[in-house]
Amino acid sequence: MSYLVAARPAAGATLLLGTLLLLLGPLGAAPSYAGPETGPLTVAPAPAPAPRESALDKQVERREHALTAMFAVAEQHARVEQVRSDRLRALGYTGDLPALETILPLGGYHLSAGFGAAGPLWEADHTGLDFGAPSGTDLVAIADATVSEVAYAGPYGLRTVLTLEDGTDVWYCHQMVSLVSPGQSVEIGELLGLVGTTGNTTGPHLHLEVHPAGGAATDPAAWLTAAGMTP
Ligand SMILES: [Zn+2]
Repeated sequence: MSYLVAARPAAGATLLLGTLLLLLGPLGAAPSYAGPETGPLTVAPAPAPAPRESALDKQVERREHALTAMFAVAEQHARVEQVRSDRLRALGYTGDLPALETILPLGGYHLSAGFGAAGPLWEADHTGLDFGAPSGTDLVAIADATVSEVAYAGPYGLRTVLTLEDGTDVWYCHQMVSLVSPGQSVEIGELLGLVGTTGNTTGPHLHLEVHPAGGAATDPAAWLTAAGMTP
């Protein structure tokens, strides 16, 4: 018992030493003094935040940023979807609007000349489908597309060419006015121009041509029907 007392400083001495070291702290208290033996009198410098906690905080912060960004994208997507659906609804389409990929180029028309018809206005057989409608009728994008060309094209009059996502070119001919520019992206149902009588026409109508992969013209009526939109 007496040996143990002699081997360790008495409680009072420990307190005094601790106080001294506390006062000397800024001058460089020996960290080696800190240890389980000294208990509450430890004078080691205040521990820095554990690195593991700090890394975890950063991780949580990064995760929150990622989630916020993800929600923002989702919200934006929902808004775009809403605008698209509203536009299609305004054109008279109903049902599963987000699933609708192809629509008709105009409303309130009467078909006047079909694909392959012969006539005095055409050098060869008719290479498109004619939608008769009053001058100034809205012409809309039949699908999401890029505007490839807007130009006067001889007998076709003022023509806008849309290139769809699968490479199909769609020609809108005889327009009174075009409201889009080459290189512009357009979404299904967006206004492209107005029905007119430019080029070779006997009356206002849209002459629509469909060129799969930009190649030879195919029957627009059959093509539209295959896309689920019989004219
Ligand atoms: Zn035509």
